Amino acid sequence: MDTTGKDTLKMDAFGVVSYNRPYVCKKCGGVMVFKGCGEYACEDCRTKDYDDYGKVRNYIEQNQGANAAEIESKTGVSQKAIRQMLKESRLEITADSVAFMRCELCGAEIRSGRFCPACEVTYHRKKESQMRENMKGFGLESEEERRNRNNKGEKRFLRGE
Ligand SMILES: [Zn+2]
Ligand SMILES: [Zn+2]
Repeated sequence: MDTTGKDTLKMDAFGVVSYNRPYVCKKCGGVMVFKGCGEYACEDCRTKDYDDYGKVRNYIEQNQGANAAEIESKTGVSQKAIRQMLKESRLEITADSVAFMRCELCGAEIRSGRFCPACEVTYHRKKESQMRENMKGFGLESEEERRNRNNKGEKRFLRGE
């Protein structure tokens, strides 16, 4: 963990975009404490600050219908980071703005996450029935047995598609 107080945590090697979390208060140098939804407050002087997610979220709240290019130019947060936030379901763009996400299963336009609501339900139902199938007829077993069985279950599930 970075304890030097640098304000960026670069994880691009893992495909995760940094949200530029504020660690140190710009006014007094106090520690910034996470308050939720991208908002932080200095534990000494209570000055508020925001990470990239917080900035984008605030902008969208105040500018209904903003699209990614506009958000980028006003907040300084890259469209790549905005798209990443959308993919992680951390925020939703409004209904009248340009939709640029597509369901990974059926290709329907979506505003957050990876799947449309219908496919998301289907996906979870499949996972649930797969879990039930895997659990059938197995009593006490070792961790290794369980792993092996889960692998077989996965393959059986895929073949049955
Ligand atoms: Zn402060
Ligand atoms: Zn879908």
